[in-house]
Amino acid sequence: MFWGVQASSLLVFTVPFTWSLVALWAASHFIRAIGLTLAFHRYFAHRAFEVSRPARFFWAFTGTAAMQKGPIWWAGHHIAHHKYADREGDPHSPAVSGFYYAHVGWFLHDARHESLPPTNPVVRDFGGVPEIAWLDRYYVVPPLLLALVLYLAGGYAWLVWGFSLATTTLAHATFSINTINHLWGSRRFDTPDESRNNALTAFFAVGEGWHNNHHRYQRAARNGFYWWEFDPTYYVVAAMSWVGLAWNLQPVPPRIYEEARHGAPALGAVADGTDA
Ligand SMILES: [Zn+2]
Ligand SMILES: [Zn+2]
Repeated sequence: MFWGVQASSLLVFTVPFTWSLVALWAASHFIRAIGLTLAFHRYFAHRAFEVSRPARFFWAFTGTAAMQKGPIWWAGHHIAHHKYADREGDPHSPAVSGFYYAHVGWFLHDARHESLPPTNPVVRDFGGVPEIAWLDRYYVVPPLLLALVLYLAGGYAWLVWGFSLATTTLAHATFSINTINHLWGSRRFDTPDESRNNALTAFFAVGEGWHNNHHRYQRAARNGFYWWEFDPTYYVVAAMSWVGLAWNLQPVPPRIYEEARHGAPALGAVADGTDA
């Protein structure tokens, strides 16, 4: 199914080009990207804020429509990435297992990554929430529903641009955080992993490209630590907080900004549980 969607994105060349189709691609790519980063990553994996239950379901559904499996699966494995970052046990490290495996191989081919133990914090906290457990089990439903709606609304052209192409670009935008952001970019913080900040991946993955920031302080609601670090996921969370849909947004502590300015103190805060 994954390779089928990837291959079918080439069908864009069979559709006459229009800018409205580009706008459709952008809406489908970026709105689902917000679902992934806001719900799967910053909420389910890192608990970077609290959110109302209907809003949580809305963004979790939107993220599941990205066709990257379910929220519990996604966030549960992401925790292992932080725990073992670029060491044995990291599900997707280009340094440990090579580029292909870190990019898509781990997601597709390895049965080790299929089930999570009940002790996994995401399973423990959300496995019993009916609507989230349902999404995680029937993760094929939201993307198929999106494909169907696009086809009924705009026919073949909408299906190809709004689903096939956008699902493909979004998959690689997400997977690039695991590969590109552990290979190429700048390092503001001297973290024990290979994480890097990269403006290009930050653009296509709606703020996730500030990955060195994120590895230094994963609990923060924002991954762009400064106003010039483009982080639309954070802008959405902030807007939700203004209308009461989200609260308890975790800030970047002053000591982390201090470290960004002056470098880490001797024996930096690496051992601090919420950091690195
Ligand atoms: Zn990482
Ligand atoms: Zn993370």
